[in-house]
Amino acid sequence: MNIILLGPPGAGKGTQARLLEEKYGMVQLSTGDMLRASIKRGEPLGLEAKKLMDEGRLVPDDLMIRMIEDRIQQADCQKGFILDGFPRTVKQAEALDAMLDRHHKNLDAVVELKVDEDALVERVTGRFTCAKCGAGYHSNFKPTKVEGICDNCGSAEFVCRPDDNPETMKTRLKAFHEQTAPILPYYREKGLLKSVDGMASMVNVQQSIEAVLKSLRKG
Ligand code: ADP
Ligand code: ADP
Ligand code: ZN
Repeated sequence: MNIILLGPPGAGKGTQARLLEEKYGMVQLSTGDMLRASIKRGEPLGLEAKKLMDEGRLVPDDLMIRMIEDRIQQADCQKGFILDGFPRTVKQAEALDAMLDRHHKNLDAVVELKVDEDALVERVTGRFTCAKCGAGYHSNFKPTKVEGICDNCGSAEFVCRPDDNPETMKTRLKAFHEQTAPILPYYREKGLLKSVDGMASMVNVQQSIEAVLKSLRKG
């Protein structure tokens, strides 16, 4: 099964993608994570993207489309994938359709996570990640069990994203409304769009997504 998790910055896409990955063996394809990895490796692509990401603006479509087309052809994606952060424009959505056709794959659902704007700002400003294993946390909503120690790997080093601040968040939300929201009707018309209440607790959001996936298996 191949799905898209769609939602504004901080909606919970990464959190839910990782839960699905653990439980169903699907692969999380996060374009944001791929770009941050490229920046870390000091690649030209990463350097080109970094300036835009730090400003909260979208990276050019062609670059993102190529990145995803390379990735979905890899062997681990045969088990099914969860797109997290792609597509973000109508052009990316159209390119995704074309590449899925080319590679004889299909899209089973687009799960939209609906979250109020105030909550989004609160979510991104409290977000932090383990520097060693990448486990995701939130200062209020998902703190580490032992203060300062990663639950998953025991590391004491954490990082915050440079774009997770209220100022950059304004630009990111604007980009979402202007460039990403138009892909909702695109998928609604195809009958693929399923909306989930993203304001609920992480466990309840997970259950809602699983209910959507089960209905697809039956249908
Ligand atoms: P996205 O990938 O959509 O940007 P994340 O999954 O990284 O969002 O979530 C953003 C922040 O909000 C993280 O710190 C995460 O721990 C927290 N979070 C995710 N889902 C929920 C939820 N349902 N309730 C409260 N906080 C959440
Ligand atoms: P979030 O989880 O907060 O939604 P991401 O980690 O998905 O953020 O993306 C971080 C940044 O990376 C975006 O603000 C944008 O600059 C860039 N980016 C990620 N995916 C895409 C994409 N599909 N198209 C254009 N830019 C992207
Ligand atoms: Zn860790």
